[in-house]
This record gives sequence, C-alpha cells and structure tokens, in this order.
Amino acid sequence: MARYIGPVCKLCRRENLKLFLKGDRCYSDKCAFDRRPYPPGQHGQGRIKFSEYGVRLREKQKVRRLYGIFERQFRRYFHFADSEKGVTGENLLRYLERRLDNVVYRMGFASTRSEARQLVRHNHVLVNGKRVNIPSYLTRVNDTISIRERSKKIARIAESMEAVERRGPVSWLELDKASFSGVIKQLPARDDITMPIQEQMIVEFYSR
Ligand code: SF4
Repeated sequence: MARYIGPVCKLCRRENLKLFLKGDRCYSDKCAFDRRPYPPGQHGQGRIKFSEYGVRLREKQKVRRLYGIFERQFRRYFHFADSEKGVTGENLLRYLERRLDNVVYRMGFASTRSEARQLVRHNHVLVNGKRVNIPSYLTRVNDTISIRERSKKIARIAESMEAVERRGPVSWLELDKASFSGVIKQLPARDDITMPIQEQMIVEFYSR
C-alpha cells in the first residue's frame, strides 16, 4: 500500500492552509506554514494567478493531501459518491471520514492521520473486537473502534489522547478514554467537517 513519504509541510504551504500533518509541531511556533506562509520553491513569493481549472485542481489536491490518499483511490471515492443518492460533494467527504485511519485519528488515538494509518497497519486497532489492519476500511454506524489490549501501553497513544481536546469535539463519535475505545454514533454531517473545504469545486473538477 503506497503512501506519501515526502516533506509534508510543503503541502500545507502549497495549499495555503494548515493541514495539521505533523501533530504537535503544527501547534507550536515551529510550524513552517506560520513561518513561511507562501508556496514553496524559488517563485513561491511571486504573484500566482490560478485559472478556473487551477482553482479546482488545488481544492482537490488539498483534500486529497489532508486525508493522505493518492489520486487513484480518491477518484474511486468520487465515483462511489457520485453514484449514490444525495449531494455528491458531501457523500465524498463522508466516505473520506469513514476511513478507519481517519476515525482512529478523530478519536484521538493518534496525533495525525499518517500516525493513525501506522497504528492500523501494525495491528494495534480492533473494529468490533476484531483486528483490522486496512487503513481504508470503511467504518459504519455503531462500529466500536478500540485499541488492542497489549497496545494500550504504548506511550504515544496515551499522549495523543491527552492532546485531543485542542482539536475540538467530534459530535458523531463517542469516546471512552478509560477503555481506549469509541463508537460511531452516526455518520458525519457536513457541518461536522470544520476544515475550509469547498467540495463543490472537487465535483466540478471531476465533472469537467
Ligand atoms: Fe502544516 Fe505547520 Fe503542521 Fe507543517 S507544522 S504540517 S506546515 S500545519
């Protein structure tokens, strides 16, 4: 399973938005976006004018990078979302939020989605009591996500759970910190996703 292993702060600077890809560092004064809030590269500080296509491309790239997904899989989610009833853009975001690595991150067991992905890949996460090591696994309502008994000793998980409050509440999940588990109460509504995303632009990008 491929994953991006290049420099991530450049992605925030490219997308002109803090994507919170580095956990604690993102909340410190070391954040590269706070220090250099312009795109990376020699011409980063020059004037940049986007075409209509460029604006839509950047919106798509931003969301893809936020969730740490490559193009092929992202496009697949779009096709799933497009073939379902309802608003395509909202369906797409719901698919992305339902991914197991995202849910582990949202519950606070990891400080970033890539860390959550690693927890899942390394067999630390259970879904309804069964080991699932596929980061793209799509969770459902009433699924219980928990940390495997012997993995509860991992200091990094406890540290992440301590720091989760700063990210704000996640109303569609119910977390029980004491037992390192949580339940998906409902699927996320559009208002539950607070990052500035214009999903309609992504729909327009793929529908061009
Ligand atoms: Fe983005 Fe700043 Fe976090 Fe780097 S430290 S990933 S620039 S938010």
